[in-house]
Amino acid sequence: MRTTVTSLEGSRQNLFIAGRATEPQSGNYLKSYDPATGEAWYEFADAGAQDVDAAVAAARQAFADPAWRRMTQTDRGKLVRRLAELMLEHADQLAEIETRDNGKLIKEMRAQMRALPDSYTYFAGMADKLQGETIPVNKLDMINFTLREPIGVVGMITPWNSPLMLLTGTLAPCLAIGNTVVIKPSEHATASTLALMELITAAGFPPGVVNVVTGSGRTAGDALARHPGLAKIVFTGSTQTGRTIARNAADNLIPCQMELGGKSPHVVFGDVDIERTVNGVVAGVFAAAGQTCVAGSRCFVEAGIYDRFVEALVERTRKITLGHPMLETSDIGPLALLDQVSKVESYVASGLREGASVAAGGRRPQREDLAKGWYYEPTVLTGARNDMGFMRDELFGPVVGVMPFSSEDEMIALANDTRYGLASGIWTRDIDRAMRFATKVDAGTVWINTYRSAAFMSSMGGFKESGYGRRGGFDVMREFSRVKNVVLDYSGAMQDPFVIRLK
Ligand code: NAD
Repeated sequence: MRTTVTSLEGSRQNLFIAGRATEPQSGNYLKSYDPATGEAWYEFADAGAQDVDAAVAAARQAFADPAWRRMTQTDRGKLVRRLAELMLEHADQLAEIETRDNGKLIKEMRAQMRALPDSYTYFAGMADKLQGETIPVNKLDMINFTLREPIGVVGMITPWNSPLMLLTGTLAPCLAIGNTVVIKPSEHATASTLALMELITAAGFPPGVVNVVTGSGRTAGDALARHPGLAKIVFTGSTQTGRTIARNAADNLIPCQMELGGKSPHVVFGDVDIERTVNGVVAGVFAAAGQTCVAGSRCFVEAGIYDRFVEALVERTRKITLGHPMLETSDIGPLALLDQVSKVESYVASGLREGASVAAGGRRPQREDLAKGWYYEPTVLTGARNDMGFMRDELFGPVVGVMPFSSEDEMIALANDTRYGLASGIWTRDIDRAMRFATKVDAGTVWINTYRSAAFMSSMGGFKESGYGRRGGFDVMREFSRVKNVVLDYSGAMQDPFVIRLK
């Protein structure tokens, strides 16, 4: 792969349409910023509606082209497996690009990029295992069966927090099934998706099977979401944008998969090992500086251990090392956007006015070496209530609100008192209690004595305003294929159509 952080530095990147780097019709480019320094580091094309038209046309053409359409499922699987091999070979390079573009820690990105190819291999293996079924109908001399087919062009609109990882759970199955794709990555992190296209080409995917239109959400994203040439839209991002996209998709009567925000409850009972649980809660909310959709940002602690637990949580939080994302010693890097820092600051300030108290963090770090970057200290707010702004809305930053509960019923009511329903966690040694929580909590994922442990073999997805549809696992193969029912009469005699036989 020729693309590296060095080759991208100061460069101007074009759109990727029909297998070629393509200049935007407008000739306009946008700047991409390095969150660790706040400085622009490369430029990418600002696609408009005409560019999106061209990308969707290329994807439609590739979908119909026998080079892709008439490829056997086994051969498609081989291509996806080849892509996985190339990704593994270039994992560290992709990690460096991701870190430079969105400020995620290099050690986390290396681990993520080395793990992603396994997910592609998993779906590659499924390419020739998606089967239809034969249905035993109540008629003689007839076979009634289903075919599983690709659906067409899938539009994928992704956020900035983990562009390649979030793409995987839908791109890999789409390619294994035989769909074609147009991706619109976030304007805040385009580089890794563009770099991946080099590997798509090297793996041998026919031109047009995967296309990338970079640009702003309001222009490129909007044009893609409204495009009548799509068969489905996968959107990962905020609930607010998801609502707009779902409305636009409805005009074209196409289905969506919506992977939206969260405000996940993280519950701690009095029978736990405090040190282990504190580590779980800290990892659950502060990993990636809180910029994960599943962040356990509302922490409910059984009253009997509340004071001891908060003390241990604060102590552990204060030991977290903020630092440059390229340093192995950093536990938390910067936030990806300056706007995010302002948003977190304003929610913490309003939280204090609403009666919460800062027990740890609560400000930008006062360190010379971090002054230019978009950093915010990991923050514990006590005295939290569900009606406070920072407990109600997704901050997408390193802030956890903590409050005590006295009974299991109260805990369930508090956990479910949110418009989101993405993830949840519970720490207890009482398995009956954990199972009662798992059945009553309104969240698409429940973690028991662990948090943020995800696997591509199982699916993830949200309830309520966290969206709908699942990513990962075998079911996703069904979500990106369509069923066709075929009825075959082998009696050799067509009955008189106007004779109706009553039983
Ligand atoms: P965002 O909604 O601002 O943007 C996401 C994408 O949508 C970007 O590519 C953007 O350009 C595009 N977009 C913006 N406006 C658009 C419009 N009107 N039409 C079409 N496209 C448009 O989200 P973000 O700030 O990039 O990402 C953070 C959000 O993503 C958080 O809410 C987070 O919880 C969510 N997220 C969810 C999951 C999940 O799996 N549920 C995973 C990661 C992130």
